[in-house]
Amino acid sequence: MNNRIKNLKGVKTSNFSPRISGDTHAQYVKGVGPVRAGLLERLGIKTLEDILFYFPWRYEDRKNLKKICDLSYGNLETTLCEVVSADVITTPRKKMKIFELTVADKTGFLKSKWFNQPYLKKYFKKDQKLILSGVVKGNPYTGIGLEMENPEFELLGSEDKFIHTSRIVPVYKATEGISQKQLRTLIFNAIDTYSFLIEEYLPEYIIKKNNLKPLRWSVKEAHFPEEFTDVGALNNGSGPAHKRLVFDELFMLELGLALLKKRETLERGISFRDKNDLVNKFLAGLPFELTRAQKRILDQVRADMKRPLPMNRLVHGDVGCGKTVVALVSMLIVVENGYQACLMAPTEILAGQHFINIRRMVEGLGLKAALLTSGSKDKPVDDISMGKAQIIIGTHALIQEKVKFRNLGLAVIDEQHRFGVVQRASLRTKGLNPDILIMTATPIPRTLAMTLYGDLDISIIDELPAGRKPVITKVFFPSQKDGLYSSIKRELSKGRQVYIVYPLIEESEKLDLKSAIAGAGAFEKIFPERKIGLVHGKMRHDEREAVMSAFKSGDIDLLVSTTVIEVGIDVPNASLMLIVHAERFGLAQLHQLRGRIGRGGYDSYCLLMAYPPFSDEAKRRLKAMESTGDGFKIAEEDLAIRGPGDFFGTRQSGLPELKIANIIRDMGVLEISRKEAFALADAEPDLSGHPLLKETLQKKWMGRLELIKS
Ligand code: ADP
Ligand code: MG
Repeated sequence: MNNRIKNLKGVKTSNFSPRISGDTHAQYVKGVGPVRAGLLERLGIKTLEDILFYFPWRYEDRKNLKKICDLSYGNLETTLCEVVSADVITTPRKKMKIFELTVADKTGFLKSKWFNQPYLKKYFKKDQKLILSGVVKGNPYTGIGLEMENPEFELLGSEDKFIHTSRIVPVYKATEGISQKQLRTLIFNAIDTYSFLIEEYLPEYIIKKNNLKPLRWSVKEAHFPEEFTDVGALNNGSGPAHKRLVFDELFMLELGLALLKKRETLERGISFRDKNDLVNKFLAGLPFELTRAQKRILDQVRADMKRPLPMNRLVHGDVGCGKTVVALVSMLIVVENGYQACLMAPTEILAGQHFINIRRMVEGLGLKAALLTSGSKDKPVDDISMGKAQIIIGTHALIQEKVKFRNLGLAVIDEQHRFGVVQRASLRTKGLNPDILIMTATPIPRTLAMTLYGDLDISIIDELPAGRKPVITKVFFPSQKDGLYSSIKRELSKGRQVYIVYPLIEESEKLDLKSAIAGAGAFEKIFPERKIGLVHGKMRHDEREAVMSAFKSGDIDLLVSTTVIEVGIDVPNASLMLIVHAERFGLAQLHQLRGRIGRGGYDSYCLLMAYPPFSDEAKRRLKAMESTGDGFKIAEEDLAIRGPGDFFGTRQSGLPELKIANIIRDMGVLEISRKEAFALADAEPDLSGHPLLKETLQKKWMGRLELIKS
């Protein structure tokens, strides 16, 4: 159903939609139609409400009309003028069509050019009055005069409202096929016609207490600001309209998280006792001492598990800090108490690898481990349901298939960035409120983790096991291939092993797959005396498994792969990783990949092969990789490069999308809205006094949370 937006009953707007609401498909909005609706979808706009809440990313002040003689070079200026002449010119060499317009006012002439838009000519008749807005160019010394390239214009007389000039003008992220101007007009009309559908849904006391402006006004203001609004404030998102919209977004995020957390505290969990027979035996058998950080986290986990409430803890630690041991000890506590524990990993490779390691470690303790993935042939469902297997490792098959546990006491989720809130919730239903422990290496700036994972308790492992050496990272260009091969050769001759990673980009998976295969062929020629293996995501599970374990046991020297090895693969003897087309990878992903090496106490190298030309962003990513190995610094740089927009992969994580809030910029609002949300969730966990809020919340979370069962 609709949320912020009410139903407008009985208004006939077109034959297709007798009734229009926020949920009305964008296609039926005036000025859209099916073709444009398709284009809008690329911008994430599907409904009327999406149009109303598609906010500009910046604003231009075009309300200060200047006389032509007062225009200054290099500035964005707006002027009121009349058409003198309009011509289409074809350039002699490239045959490009340029539309040239000459305009004038009482003080001078101004020329404007539009490239490849000859059709514009028909709009400009002599003496037509218009407003032009653009950056002033031309040479101030030659005296040839003033010019604008591709200025925005508005013809006077045809309309009584200004949309593109003589006002503070919103600038939207547009897309191919729909121009800035078309998009702006479309949004202007949508606001004009439908903004009255926007309803208040926040509790009144929250609006009053926090001095929030009305929602409807804020939406209008954020698109087409009133005349005297401060443009600077608009551009840095600090004006009253933005404050309201940002508050709402963050409040709805935090309210969902608050209700999740509240619901969990209302439920009873299992209280595990410290017995320590299995745990102590296990720890005694480890070839190393736990780090102080590991010990500290385990104390926190033990305390959680003892309490009669379900544990909900996130363990966050950089790649290689030793999260698996923490997971294993937690699982053993559960097993000591007579319950089952499971570990869910994001890929079959990783699940398989965990299984091999964990089985080896727990079999000595007399325990049975089982592996369940959609690819595994004999599924040990009976062992799981009868309780013969105490420790179960798997992929999301654990929650997708009809798997019954005898008594699941703990679910560990590894590498959480691939699992969302929703999967977590369904895992919970597999037991009677089992404890949940989430392990992630996704670097999150410390300051944000708390708020973002508002429904979880957080532990941070901030220490690497002793003897780790920083990985030496260096960018190479194709012309430097020889140096690169000799580095590989040197490591191989020392008895070390090497990873070679090719990109796998979703849209052209096949193509990139080929490049990994071709790459393997090429390396066979370069290193004919070495054993070369190939793994990629399209291989059968058992084939992949065979290659991986051959690499692990040292039978393969050089492993060519796609990013399937990104998480969790542990081969301490591997000391060099070459990442081909490193410029195509995200920073977090590069860091993840690099985490596969430097685990064996040898000098280790991460070579980033980059193919120019690449963007400034790519340059910054590669630079960041060269200059630091610290996951948190990488995270902060990633945030700085990408902006907080989709940093957290909100779509994957099941959290509502943040369209206007910027969690870095709006930290203050975040804290306030978080307090309000948690107080409300505490006082009224079913939100029964606020039906519209409840409805809006459910919609914002896209039904992914059975938040409130009334
Ligand atoms: P991650 O946190 O990335 O999942 P792992 O749990 O895979 O890291 O651990 C990485 C490697 O470090 C493994 O080979 C593991 O056996 C080893 N390891 C874990 N804890 C310690 C420790 N305290 N001292 C030495 N090595 C350790
Ligand atoms: Mg791990």
